[in-house]
Order: sequence, then C-alpha cells, then structure tokens
Amino acid sequence: MMHRKPVFAANWKMNHGPTDARAFMHRFLALTPRQQDRTTIFFPSALTFATVAEAVKERLDLMIGVQNVHQEPQGAFTGENSVLMARDAGARVVLVGHSERRHVFGESDETTAKKCALVAEARLIPMLCVGETLEEREAGATASVVERQLSAGIAGLDDQQVGAMMIAYEPVWAIGTGRTATPEDASDIHGVIRQLLVARLDVRPAAGIPILYGGSVNRGNAPILLAASDVDGLLVGGASLDPDGWSSIVRS
Ligand code: PEP
Repeated sequence: MMHRKPVFAANWKMNHGPTDARAFMHRFLALTPRQQDRTTIFFPSALTFATVAEAVKERLDLMIGVQNVHQEPQGAFTGENSVLMARDAGARVVLVGHSERRHVFGESDETTAKKCALVAEARLIPMLCVGETLEEREAGATASVVERQLSAGIAGLDDQQVGAMMIAYEPVWAIGTGRTATPEDASDIHGVIRQLLVARLDVRPAAGIPILYGGSVNRGNAPILLAASDVDGLLVGGASLDPDGWSSIVRS
C-alpha cells in the first residue's frame, strides 16, 4: 500500500473572527513545530481566511482551505464566494458537501457534484464529505448512502482529478454530538470508499487518496481513530477551536 501522509483538518465552521484567529495562530504556531510527515489544513470562515493565510505563509506543512464555494463560477449570487476567489486568496483545498451544507442548507448530490468539478478544474483539492444520518444507519443503508454520495461527487471528474482529491467520512450522527464511530466502523466504511475508488482508478492511484474520519474527534480518541486501518487523517470541528487541544491532536 502506498504511503499516505496523515492529514489533520480543522473545520472552524462559523467560529473565530480575525481577532480570535490571530490569537489562536500565535499560540498554535508556538506549540507546533514544523512537521514534514503530516499535513495540517485550516478551514476558517471566508472573513477570517486572510488572517490565517498570513499566519501560515512561512509554514509549508500548514495548508489553508475554504469551507464552501458556490456551484457557479461567477455572477449575481449575493453573499457567496467563488472557487476562483478562493484560489486567488490562496486556498489550496475546498470542503465540498459537508454534512451541514447537505442537511442544514439542503445541498443535493447534484450541487455537490458541480462544486467538486469546479474545484478540480481550478486545480484546487476538493475534500468531499460523505456520511449517513442516524436513520439511514439504522435502516442498514450506510454503505449505499456513502457510495451514492461518493459516486455523484466524482462523476464529473477525470481520473487524474479524482486521484488528487481528499475524502472525509463523517457520519452525520457523530458530528458535534460527542458520539464517535468506533474505529472498526470507520475502517469498514473507509474500506467501502477505498473499494469504490479502486473500481474507478485502479489500486495504486486509489491508494494515494487520503480518507479522513470526522465526527466528535477529540484529543483522547484521535490516536485510536488514526490507528484504524484505512483511516488516513481526521477532520475536526469542535476540538479544533482551541489551539492547545488542536496542537495536541495534530501532534498525535
Ligand atoms: C465537522 O464539522 O466536520 C466535525 C466533524 O465536527 P465535530 O468534530 O465538532 O463533530
């Protein structure tokens, strides 16, 4: 199996304005030496993006991304941000289809697919999020939901673009609830995702795609989840908001 550097991604959601982010980054950078063997990504809000970009500019081990972009390249969409604006601002990664986009804002597989294609065309990395609701899990539909979301997300991309993506498995019932998937559950679904990527790309290129787990990760459970097979990184919401805790997770 190809070696994949672990990826640690902080989704700040609608938290941390520029003032908080400046203080956060000051403390985080002081606590976190440069790490060549892993990649750390920050997803601040669009308004906080420039502050974080400035703070990480000398640190090649730290990347920055945006939490969302609009599915059209430009136009009369008041309040939205485009993929080209994200690239111009210095984003390398774009979260696509986060559970809150799907379930709070009603984003469909079709919209998610358009966003993945736009992001890949702009040569940024889509981090496609997939995951089942509690109802779907209890109905035994976890694998089929994840397969449907993943197939839709990669349908409009060529093989090279798929090979450059990142995937995050985030069961909806685990996000912000304090309930995490067991490492075995995460491995099972990551295995389903990997198989689908192998079917699309073949073994070697599929092996290079990082599959992150997300859902109530904290400094206690991070090392255990990260040790599970096929878990190549962590996407973290709540526990990424405090610089000491987040630094301890990215050093795990
Ligand atoms: C997330 O927002 O992607 C997430 C996993 O949130 P939390 O870690 O707070 O569950």
